[in-house]
Amino acid sequence: MPNRPPDYCPRCGGRLEPVDPPSVQRCGECGNLEFFNPIPTARLAVLDADSVLLVKVDAPDRDLWGTPGGMVEAGEDPDVAGARELEEETTLTVDPDDLALFDARTFAKFGEVQKTCLCYAVDYADVSGTPAADDEVADARFWTPEELAAADDRLLTSWPDAYTDPEWWVEEGRAAVDRD
Ligand SMILES: [Zn+2]
Repeated sequence: MPNRPPDYCPRCGGRLEPVDPPSVQRCGECGNLEFFNPIPTARLAVLDADSVLLVKVDAPDRDLWGTPGGMVEAGEDPDVAGARELEEETTLTVDPDDLALFDARTFAKFGEVQKTCLCYAVDYADVSGTPAADDEVADARFWTPEELAAADDRLLTSWPDAYTDPEWWVEEGRAAVDRD
């Protein structure tokens, strides 16, 4: 899904001129204001003691893992999106009401694709099922940060620094679960 500021007006094809770049541009031909917004996404830290559930990205030449999650769909609340993505990627089901929000930030993925990410945590005891990789991912399993480091596997590198640290997911997520 492309998410970059457009160069041309979607109504008339005229060239857009900066008003408050990159968020607001105006068409030089028809005056249409064009807004550019980040894509909202939801990610889940499912925690079992000091391990976190990770899914392996389906890239044969790399061992990259991430927390389950994805884009919020139109008309969908972010916690519902997180629960839906968890089921799509790992077959696990969770009640969105059991998810504890613990982080929200906007960042530029690969330096250009704007995303707003909402991070939720839940204890594995409040989740139904056994993790199994579904069509969208290559593997789904729990890792402690130490196991991941020992395996020389990594979290996705397109994320903000905190998100690439498995300890961050475990510690911040556990604190949120304990608060809830
Ligand atoms: Zn126009």
